[in-house]
Amino acid sequence: MQTETIVATKNCTVCATEFTITDKDLEFYKKVSPSFNGEKIEIPTPTQCPKCRERRRLSFRNERKLYKRKCDFSGKEIISIYSPDKPHKVYDQKNWRSDQRDALEYGRDFDFSKTFSEQFNALFIEVPQSAFLNLRNENSEYNNFISDCKNCYYCYDIIDTEDTLYSTRIKKIQDCVDNFDIVQSNNSYQCIVGDNLRKCYFTYHCQDCNDSQF
Ligand SMILES: [Zn+2]
Repeated sequence: MQTETIVATKNCTVCATEFTITDKDLEFYKKVSPSFNGEKIEIPTPTQCPKCRERRRLSFRNERKLYKRKCDFSGKEIISIYSPDKPHKVYDQKNWRSDQRDALEYGRDFDFSKTFSEQFNALFIEVPQSAFLNLRNENSEYNNFISDCKNCYYCYDIIDTEDTLYSTRIKKIQDCVDNFDIVQSNNSYQCIVGDNLRKCYFTYHCQDCNDSQF
């Protein structure tokens, strides 16, 4: 079995918690460090602890807040994960996926006189973003990160689901409300982590259940 060796101990610059850097971390950073003009630019080791790094990554992702704003392509009012005060260009999905724009026109050379973050931020503001991340849905406007769904409302991270409200991380569901992480189920309410549930209410970690409560 491979073991990891601690090569440095640091204190998080945000919460001051002590955390370690291992030889496997260094190996990974070396592997993913980019090269420009033949020169390897080594990625430095983290200054924040794993929890703070995770928090920073998640703060970048808006999965569950929806806003009304204008589509920057058509001018029409749309629903989006980007609030109207954001500087980004946001297109509704139809326009974002269309061939009416050439994505390559946003390409640009890296400017070594500026930081990566500065340039990434400028590019992120300039390149149109999709209003949200949904695919092949019917009558399911107020959701994000969903595909192949019909008649769903306020659901996030769902697939192949119909007539369902206020649920997250679900797959192949019909006629359900307020569920989290359930699959292949119907007519259930307030279930957390479940598979093959029928008429279940307030269940937790259940599988192959019918007419069950609490
Ligand atoms: Zn921290």
